[in-house]
Amino acid sequence: MTHVLIVEDEVNLAKEISNYLIDFNYKCTIAHTYNNALKILAENEFTILLLDLKLPDGNGLQLIQYLKKKKITSGIIVLSANDELDMRIQALDAGADDFLTKPFHLSELNARLKSLIRRNFHKGNTEIAYNEIKIDIDKKQVLINDIELVLTAKEFKLLLYFISNTGKVITKEAIGYSIWRSNSDMDVSNEIIYTHVKNLRKKLIVAGCKDYIKSIYGVGYKFDD
Ligand code: CA
Repeated sequence: MTHVLIVEDEVNLAKEISNYLIDFNYKCTIAHTYNNALKILAENEFTILLLDLKLPDGNGLQLIQYLKKKKITSGIIVLSANDELDMRIQALDAGADDFLTKPFHLSELNARLKSLIRRNFHKGNTEIAYNEIKIDIDKKQVLINDIELVLTAKEFKLLLYFISNTGKVITKEAIGYSIWRSNSDMDVSNEIIYTHVKNLRKKLIVAGCKDYIKSIYGVGYKFDD
């Protein structure tokens, strides 16, 4: 079972997240303070940490540094306020996997959790297949009906992200964070995302794929059979 540690000093928010995730069969533990989180981490293993950065007795960044120092491989999703851009960048640099800006929809949190779990899971299992599409993550190779399709690095990441989130509505914001954040380009425009998705979609169709990428007007995309 996926065990999530929620480190959040806003008691109601922590409870709300926990109640929501329990319905999706996650096991949840809550820590309201930095020191409480440290104590729990010393005694338990977690698949994912949901981490608020501003805690009453410490900084979430220090927790990320602690995890990395201890070589703890839990995935980390930072929950941050909108005015904490510097801290968010620092958190990603320190090794956080993703972040969500408060306030967020719990469904978005759930989508990010699933995506991160799949990505972490894929680390040990480098081939993914989806109908006529085969992806070798290690080799960065894509095969369509067993014929290689050459993609740019961004298109490759995008396809991987879509295939890790099939059947779900994916917001442009989520794509921006997931595909472009490593370049610390936080302001990736909708046009850039649109262009990359359009190019990927075209390449897939030309290579003989079904048209899986659907535009969801005003929201983003859905990759679906
Ligand atoms: Ca806080």
